[in-house]
Amino acid sequence: MHRRAVATGFLTGLTALSLVCGGLAVANGPADGPKAEVRTGFESSDGAQWTSEPQEQALLAEVDRLSERTSVRRIGTTRQGRQLREVRIGGRQADITVLLVCSQHGNEPAGREACLTTIRDLALAKDRPTLDFLEHTVVLVVPTANPDGLAADTRTNSEAVDINRDHMALRTEEAAAIASVLRDRQPDVVYDLHEYGAVTGYYDRDLFDLWPRNLNTSPPLREEARVLSQDYVRRAAQRAGFSTGTYGIWTDPKTGTPIKQVAGDGQERILRNTAGIKNAIALLIESRINAATEAEQKTPAVNKRRRVKAQLTGLSGLLTYAADRRKAIEAATSHAAEHGDQGTLYLAGADNSPPQPADILGSPPCGYRLDENQFEHVGRQLALHGIQLRRSPDGGAVAPMRQPLRGLVPLLLDSRAQYRLTAAEPIDRC
Ligand SMILES: [Zn+2]
Repeated sequence: MHRRAVATGFLTGLTALSLVCGGLAVANGPADGPKAEVRTGFESSDGAQWTSEPQEQALLAEVDRLSERTSVRRIGTTRQGRQLREVRIGGRQADITVLLVCSQHGNEPAGREACLTTIRDLALAKDRPTLDFLEHTVVLVVPTANPDGLAADTRTNSEAVDINRDHMALRTEEAAAIASVLRDRQPDVVYDLHEYGAVTGYYDRDLFDLWPRNLNTSPPLREEARVLSQDYVRRAAQRAGFSTGTYGIWTDPKTGTPIKQVAGDGQERILRNTAGIKNAIALLIESRINAATEAEQKTPAVNKRRRVKAQLTGLSGLLTYAADRRKAIEAATSHAAEHGDQGTLYLAGADNSPPQPADILGSPPCGYRLDENQFEHVGRQLALHGIQLRRSPDGGAVAPMRQPLRGLVPLLLDSRAQYRLTAAEPIDRC
């Protein structure tokens, strides 16, 4: 296996570290200060067990204590009383922000393990390339996006809600916490870690990824997401010996040509799409849960280590992307926020599924008017999304289209939008 997972050679210290720490090698690695002693439960058990909630709490407290460039804050509390946390690593004056959202689905734990290892590695790194990287980049991590689901080993949270279908409605504490991070930190890149069940031959790569397909994503953002996917994440994974592909697309086992789409559409309520509409370069990553070899079948720890290692290689590609393309990332995200006030918007469709004529807002309204009752019901969610509002004397409010989240406004407020919060009145005359 190649240790060097990136084309550029930049950030090799970090990349090599990420690979070496693929959930198993840390204990035998160089005794590099406190790093070797701060281990996840997964690493300590050599992949036999996932890191428990108390182990996570202890690890985060320890890196918070040991690392001046790291802070941990609570961003919410679940229905069952577990903490939702955000870890921030990096300099105060950084140019760009990268957000990792780990294991929104509680029964897909490998992404979370890779996130915990990455937090430790970045927080305690002493090598020059990583320190330089963190001077220019803030890395934010929500290491356990669904703590109740993780405890119960379920996809959903304790209220049986799929958090990754709640990023418009924000009914759950978990999705509300992520929305507040998107609003307050305005990440340039959002990387969403999941796992999937394979179908042998047709749908079984080690890693699948997918960009925002929603049509209200600014095209330069989607283009950057493709660069991130193809030139960095997939390349890093392939160099480490992992197979890659596009999430949601079955391919013919013989020819490799696409056969059908089973997931990965343009729904705005999925974080990958929501983040794109909120002016971030977004990517979904999915590691394969099912055993890939006989050894994995026989020994669950072997299976788990492969899944975590695949996620770590993807993450090394992501971090290298952030280091290499800082200027292009900044340009794409600020263009999206500043020039989003022009052009056609869409209420449905995807980059591979044309919208119906009725879903095309060729000349969108100037804004939407909420009456007092509507504002009372959805004002909290609109504030969490970061939608700019003008309060009206009658107790209602107006959401003008001219704002950085222009592409989100009709999806939340138009009567024809599938996942709207309310059917507000379009304002046709500006
Ligand atoms: Zn998932």
